[in-house]
Amino acid sequence: MPLRAAIRTIPDYPKKGILFRDITTLLGDAKAFRKAVDELVQPWAGAKIEKVAGMEARGFILGGAVAHQLSAGFVPIRKKGKLPHQTVSISYALEYGVDEMEMHVDAVAQGEKVILVDDLIATGGTAEGAIRLLQKMGANVVAACFVIDLPDLGGAKKIEALGVPVRTLVAFE
Ligand code: 5GP
Repeated sequence: MPLRAAIRTIPDYPKKGILFRDITTLLGDAKAFRKAVDELVQPWAGAKIEKVAGMEARGFILGGAVAHQLSAGFVPIRKKGKLPHQTVSISYALEYGVDEMEMHVDAVAQGEKVILVDDLIATGGTAEGAIRLLQKMGANVVAACFVIDLPDLGGAKKIEALGVPVRTLVAFE
């Protein structure tokens, strides 16, 4: 089954006019989940990736599986106030307004090869914030990987313009 068919679309969520792409159906389908993780990691097998960074919350699920597959460590990037140790934070653009995301100060070492994983890229604001945060802490962000791309919103182009290659598996125009 193609990955696209495992993704459910919920109209008017979280607000009227939005078509929400729901990956819980993909995660719940053993074959589709494995296929998504295999396809996300495929270019990086043998690349000696040291850490996978995932964004709260769906990025944790996919990122954890990707990290395991690559024998890499996992770095959680979270919304403000959720991490217990000393953090470094960055503000990032939301569709309406700004928010802050954080990671632990010691989560990556200088020059470490990191890939960023999330379920979906839309405007790219979230991914850009995460990449800037990782780079601020000295990480070498070698790629950003997403199951879903919404190309009309331009996020993947925005991230590539930062010099970080983007991998996406399914596009919804
Ligand atoms: P961006 O910052 O690129 O505009 O938005 C991407 C972030 O919003 C990701 O963290 C993603 O999880 C979440 N997001 C936005 N729209 C959707 C959607 O339709 N489906 C899912 N699963 N996540 C979304």
